[in-house]
Amino acid sequence: MSLLLHNAFVHTGEAAFANGAILIEDGRVAWSGALADLPPDRTAATRRDLGGRVVIPGLVNAHTHGGLSACRCACDDGDLFQWAAALRSQTSHLTIEDNRQGCRLAVAEMLRNGITTACDCTRYGAGVFAEVASEMGLRSLSGALANSPELRPAGRPNWPLALDETDEAMARHGADGLARFYLGAHSPYSCTPDLLIEVKSAARERGLPFVIHASENRAETRITLERYGATPIRHLHRLGLLDRSTVLAHCVWVDEEEIDILAETGAAVVHNPASNAKLASGIAPVSALRRAGVPVGLGTDSVVSNNRLDLFQEMKLAVLLQRVSSLDGFAMNAADAFRMATSEGARTLGMERETGRLLPGMAADLVVLEIDHPEGLTPERVVSDLVYRITPREVRDVMVAGRFVVEHGALTLADDRETRPSPRRGTSHPTGTIA
Ligand SMILES: [Zn+2]
Repeated sequence: MSLLLHNAFVHTGEAAFANGAILIEDGRVAWSGALADLPPDRTAATRRDLGGRVVIPGLVNAHTHGGLSACRCACDDGDLFQWAAALRSQTSHLTIEDNRQGCRLAVAEMLRNGITTACDCTRYGAGVFAEVASEMGLRSLSGALANSPELRPAGRPNWPLALDETDEAMARHGADGLARFYLGAHSPYSCTPDLLIEVKSAARERGLPFVIHASENRAETRITLERYGATPIRHLHRLGLLDRSTVLAHCVWVDEEEIDILAETGAAVVHNPASNAKLASGIAPVSALRRAGVPVGLGTDSVVSNNRLDLFQEMKLAVLLQRVSSLDGFAMNAADAFRMATSEGARTLGMERETGRLLPGMAADLVVLEIDHPEGLTPERVVSDLVYRITPREVRDVMVAGRFVVEHGALTLADDRETRPSPRRGTSHPTGTIA
């Protein structure tokens, strides 16, 4: 199966081509560049004229909680701990069916918003997000975050249940191609050191990434300091949990030495600017992290702390917040944010060879956007518009692994009506899906 997308402004993530084209073979980019440079022997069974629209790599949402889309607006106020307490009381009735419905809503919203890869977290039902995502055409890295019941009492213990669910899901999705898995722990403050070590060891044994929330809120730093005599990053480092396969969500409260630890160990960070602002957590030192060589992706977090799964918003906020917190108008620019939402986001998830750029050999994960400019498109204007101006309304078509999963703004692999919010609730035993 081969397809040539042509008559487009193509930004591959590395270079831009005004009269660009992308040749797709078996779900992968076979060639990309200016149409005039397409070798004459490279032909395609089908051609699609994109009418001068803009093509970019699919966006990577490096941190979210799809299940929580079942309870949009459950809690809009308070800092992280006040918000989490209020959310717990609002979500204790949630069932695995609710989790599944939340995942459907989240995947639908993400695909319509140009997100082609998402890293999802839950407490129960480690395989649910992947099942829904693969069915609807989204690339996923998913799993569950373990926690210690004595430190985080709501709900049933979820370890080693999460391990069994993940092993089962991996066996089920073996040949799927879209679904990958991690093993994770909720945070340094809701997991005992023994549990953290156990989860990381299980991840190492299986060659899986290890995902954890860390240094999200200032009070968290105080808790781990009092309990373990170390701030969260130092604590995780002492336990030997930081390496190139470790993905840390947030890292708002990290000092210079902790930034150096992250850089030396190769751990990656996911920045969630809207969620961190909404929960009064603070502004992560993204510029300093990236300067030190720490890869930083962008995440939306859940709709309960955001309330949109929209990486265009996150790109803009990421730049604006770095500038306003440093009073430096050069602290971060649009190209930085675009990279974080694509190739650098993919790197944080260990998927940089698979997605995030439209280069030969990589997956054909892309977004077709309705962007024009009064003076014509240039690479600078396109990147500027991507970060500062446009919204998901400009997303027209979305392709994942060579297949259009959104066309003219509508999902192609799911019934549109079923992916709209519905008040129905499941009937099985409530587990709670907060993570
Ligand atoms: Zn989270």
